[in-house]
Amino acid sequence: MIDRRGLTGSQGEFGRAERVVPLWPGQPPPQRCPRGHELAVGGARAGWLHLYQQPSTTCRVCADLRLPGATWCLVDPTEQELAASSDEPPHSNDLVLRATPPSTRGGLGQIALWVEHDRAGVAQLRVCGPCQVGVIEHVHVEPIHRELGYGRLLVAAGLARGPGYTWSVADIDRDADLVTRAFAASVLSPLLSDQAGPHRCTDMRRARGETDAGP
Ligand SMILES: [Zn+2]
Ligand SMILES: [Zn+2]
Repeated sequence: MIDRRGLTGSQGEFGRAERVVPLWPGQPPPQRCPRGHELAVGGARAGWLHLYQQPSTTCRVCADLRLPGATWCLVDPTEQELAASSDEPPHSNDLVLRATPPSTRGGLGQIALWVEHDRAGVAQLRVCGPCQVGVIEHVHVEPIHRELGYGRLLVAAGLARGPGYTWSVADIDRDADLVTRAFAASVLSPLLSDQAGPHRCTDMRRARGETDAGP
């Protein structure tokens, strides 16, 4: 038994951070690696990633080509703990999603992704049950934790708070930095498709203190 106290994981004691891929309950595992190699043809290897305490898959083609992202873990975005605040770390070292609901209907809720007691990223969102509407307001992943699918997992965790709801995304600055534009073009694009700007219900507008919220 290894005593983990005092270790931070920054030296790679618990394994390297690898890509995560959201897998919804009941959904079959993907047939292709994130780069598009058909696993049945190119070959895949099952493993265990200690850093996340999750089973992992490695694409043999990506691994043989020494491409980054050859190994990934499938993570259920609906598995979330409740936390009083997004600053409150989890008890476990593993990869953990922690949701902090808003205090008012239509208010700003948060979902934090923790890896090794490090808050890797946060999504801010509004969800209204009565109106069946959700808005992804903001997603931030710390620079050292980027390119690992964490932002995509945070968005999936947000959508899991309102399955079947009408979802939209807060306005994205067209002059935003490259990271933001890349994230919008890949992860957020399915939510951007048919309408311009976010669709916030009356409750959300009232929670934001907007004057056009009505009576
Ligand atoms: Zn591959
Ligand atoms: Zn509402």
